[in-house]
Amino acid sequence: MLVSCPSCGRTEVDIIGLAQAVEERLAKIDRPIKVAVMGCVVNGPGEAKDADVGIACGKGRGVIFRKGEQVRTVEEKDFLEALMEEVQKV
Ligand code: SF4
Repeated sequence: MLVSCPSCGRTEVDIIGLAQAVEERLAKIDRPIKVAVMGCVVNGPGEAKDADVGIACGKGRGVIFRKGEQVRTVEEKDFLEALMEEVQKV
């Protein structure tokens, strides 16, 4: 299950594109997992912490959470791969 923020004036990355890419990858995973893709670091972390794996994307960097814990900070180019690596660990 994918939760993504609707994106708003705070969004600093292509959150819709990332959410679509994540959704395609999740479709190949055959177990229930909640992933949150959020577009900012102001309101994003709350929802990201609430999911099995979540990312709060800031300008050029994002923070990834797994089971409510902040696990890593990644560069924008690595958002998708890093998020999927954490999904595999759940
Ligand atoms: S998480 Fe941030 S970017 Fe996404 S809708 Fe909420 S305030 Fe906007």
